[in-house]
Amino acid sequence: MSADCLFCRIAGGGIPAAKLHDDALCIAVADIAPKAPVHLLVLPKVHLSGAPEITGNNEALIGHLVKVAADLARERGLERDGYRIVINSGVHGGQTVQHLHVHLLGGRPLADMG
Ligand code: AMP
Ligand code: ZN
Repeated sequence: MSADCLFCRIAGGGIPAAKLHDDALCIAVADIAPKAPVHLLVLPKVHLSGAPEITGNNEALIGHLVKVAADLARERGLERDGYRIVINSGVHGGQTVQHLHVHLLGGRPLADMG
């Protein structure tokens, strides 16, 4: 938990947010600037700055984040038409919040990877 990290504060309850999922390891919230009809973020409760901090010590946690994103997609009826799960990393990856998070995007075609 880092007091100056936005997503730590959301995951820790310091900033109120509607939690679409909440378990021992992670929460899910709606993205504040949605890029698709469904745009959710899955955030680990522990602070990891991003994908470079994925190691052998936390690979199970990362698998859990992706599983939660897939569960949320299923719950929202996205399986038939498909969806996208994304982790942005660094400047070229477009990462703007330095707390690891998994995006779930769906509800429209997402063919463009740009
Ligand atoms: P990224 O660009 O991969 O770092 O994604 C960060 C995402 O967090 C962006 O899609 C933002 O719209 C989203 N975001 C920023 N602030 C908030 C917030 N307070 N609540 C929910 N989503 C947020
Ligand atoms: Zn954090």
